[in-house]
Amino acid sequence: MPMNQETIWTTLERLGAVQRGHFRDGDEHTDAELGSLDPLSDPVATEALAHELAEIARADTPDVILAMHGWTPLPGILVAFRVGVELGKPIISLSDEEGIVRASRPLYRGTKAALVGEAFSTRDVSLARAHVGQAGASLDGVFALIDDGRAERVQGLVSFAGHRHASATCPMCKEGHPLTEPASGSGAGRN
Ligand SMILES: [Zn+2]
Repeated sequence: MPMNQETIWTTLERLGAVQRGHFRDGDEHTDAELGSLDPLSDPVATEALAHELAEIARADTPDVILAMHGWTPLPGILVAFRVGVELGKPIISLSDEEGIVRASRPLYRGTKAALVGEAFSTRDVSLARAHVGQAGASLDGVFALIDDGRAERVQGLVSFAGHRHASATCPMCKEGHPLTEPASGSGAGRN
């Protein structure tokens, strides 16, 4: 049975991938922020989330899964790995070395790729798209556990879109909730 939205949110929160509160994010306020997913703390729950993502990615019928070896490599690689297992497709890991993308294996011309992982910044998506374009392949789908609502065309199990408000119109401020102090080691600044 598919996980419902509420279960997905609470699971992501329990695994550290999402923090709930009342955060300042530039000129905006938000009730959800990226944390850092600890997939090893609960492999079964991580796998359940990856399964949900695989079901969405399946409809895209990719030939190859791209993983992004980014800021926190392990969660993204594990999620991509599990989706690769479920779809029976190979995985190519991309790393961002100061703007130069290195791939674990070549991507062949005409291949249809899907980018899969925990969460992607605008930079991750544009670097992956540029790499795929240079190889003469195509990148149709971008699938993440969390769509941070900034990078375009990301399909997430949950999305932060709609959770951000201009500080002047923030509903949490209107209700008198104080801002949450940022936790050390939070995902702030990943974009
Ligand atoms: Zn507020």
